[in-house]
Amino acid sequence: MQKNQILAIAESLQRQWLALPRNKRAENLSVSSEDEKLVRQLAAQLTDASLIPVSNNAFERQLAKESKRVLVYEDRDLLDLALEYVPIAQLYDDAEIDLEQYPDWGLEDVVIIKLLAWFKNFFSWVDQPACQFCSSPTIAIGRGKPNVDDIRHGASVIEVYQCQQCHQTNRFPRYNNPSKLLETRKGRCGEWANCFTLCCRAVGAEARYILDTTDPDHVWTEVYSQAQQRWVHCDPCENAFDRPLLYSAGWGKSLSYCIAFSAEEVMDVTKRYTTNWPVVLTRRHATSESGLSKVRRLSHASYGR
Ligand SMILES: [Zn+2]
Repeated sequence: MQKNQILAIAESLQRQWLALPRNKRAENLSVSSEDEKLVRQLAAQLTDASLIPVSNNAFERQLAKESKRVLVYEDRDLLDLALEYVPIAQLYDDAEIDLEQYPDWGLEDVVIIKLLAWFKNFFSWVDQPACQFCSSPTIAIGRGKPNVDDIRHGASVIEVYQCQQCHQTNRFPRYNNPSKLLETRKGRCGEWANCFTLCCRAVGAEARYILDTTDPDHVWTEVYSQAQQRWVHCDPCENAFDRPLLYSAGWGKSLSYCIAFSAEEVMDVTKRYTTNWPVVLTRRHATSESGLSKVRRLSHASYGR
């Protein structure tokens, strides 16, 4: 069987899976024919890289890779693990008490507001880690090689720091696996948004991961509000809820692409983060608009966990 046939059937399986209610997805990957069974076996054997659409464009490859990574937020075991950390009952109690203060929002939205505040204390920001031996300040001295354990937890980038006091070397793996992040609870915006998106999904919200590729790049989360029938900006690093102009107006960032990733879709959401769309359009050169649609289309073929 050709690889594109495998991907086409894998895509069909993914669509069936997405059509199921969320609580039925884990146990309901029905196999209706021998072909599908074979495809699932083959898809499981394909490496991650081979499932990512091949493109000469680095930006498109980055988007395709991200579209596959976010499937982790649908992992039932991982969502259960997150609920061992997130105090969901307390968040609901606090949200109910304060609900009247938020007349435009529903209870679930206020739970997310409470989750943002909780997460700000749960997680900590690390620019340069303190020395693990003597807690003194460190300075960056380069990159190290990932070991087996780093790779197992999705860290391909290992930052290395030297202590200014005891001169010991300290490694700072940039973990991508949100289960590891629940344990380490530290990092920069990548780790924050990754772990926070998982926590939003764990409390039952529809959530997606947003990548702003404008240098320096930034990531955050969007949560769907049933009360307002729209996606809402949530930045865990800033404890910011529904402040989409934070970057363009607040930080003075010249945005070009803000892309939303979820198991369901890849969406260009840049417009909601700017008040001057025509000017933003003049800055978009990383891919053609048709290249963006291609990523959206191909991302659905990436399901192959
Ligand atoms: Zn030290």
